[in-house]
Amino acid sequence: MSDIYDSLPLTSIAATVLDVLGVNPPEGFAPANDIVTEKAEAAFGGKADRVFIYNPDAVALWLFQKYTGLFKKALLRSDLQIPMLSVMPSVTPVCFASMYTGVMPESHGIKAYVKPVLKAHTVFDSLARAGKRCAIVSTSGDSISEIFRERDMDYFIYDTHQECNKKALELIAEDRHSLIVLYNGNYDATMHKFAPESNEALAALEENVETFSQMHDAICSTWKGHKTLMGFCPDHGCHEIDGGMGSHGLEMIEDMNIIHMFSFIK
Ligand SMILES: [Zn+2]
Repeated sequence: MSDIYDSLPLTSIAATVLDVLGVNPPEGFAPANDIVTEKAEAAFGGKADRVFIYNPDAVALWLFQKYTGLFKKALLRSDLQIPMLSVMPSVTPVCFASMYTGVMPESHGIKAYVKPVLKAHTVFDSLARAGKRCAIVSTSGDSISEIFRERDMDYFIYDTHQECNKKALELIAEDRHSLIVLYNGNYDATMHKFAPESNEALAALEENVETFSQMHDAICSTWKGHKTLMGFCPDHGCHEIDGGMGSHGLEMIEDMNIIHMFSFIK
């Protein structure tokens, strides 16, 4: 595999979400991804009023390249597919902190696999200040469930990703949040245990694609009066290690290069 790192940074997601919702990003946030924001302007003729971010854990760019057919349902439902560069160390709390604070680890303060409540300013704080309601739907003990606590927003924390997905569909039906973040860690957990390309892990990945598709279709049929940016936004990639297991956290293209997808639904 050639040693080419993706160029567009994970930190751009924070300002992208705010820009699309018509909220000015705070100073210090990495610039928005202008491919996504300009596409949103063109698709909506202005700003969006809903964002739904699906955060599947550990979906590497190389998985997308090698198993493109497995992503078919998501490809058919997304308008942009963009290679993105994660941050170091490429572990879950560090990466999601960068995704939702718009800054690098040395600035937000989570620089290792620890899950303190972030003191840094997040997308959720900006949206709360702008009077927009946010929700996080995630599994108990996982990074997204821990590091974004103590904000003026709604938290729906469950034991299993299946319960999270069911709740996310209910929230789409209730239609009361400007931003919904849904986390699924099932691919990550499975690839650590059985290796990234094991049948078990690929089945989990396929389930992630299916879940994104389900959420997409629910938004299309339920949020007809809205303009929605939907994202498929993993945190980091993964690689195989000795013993038939998977890992991540290193500065290598398998861990750093990821694939994001975006849909513009109206
Ligand atoms: Zn992760």
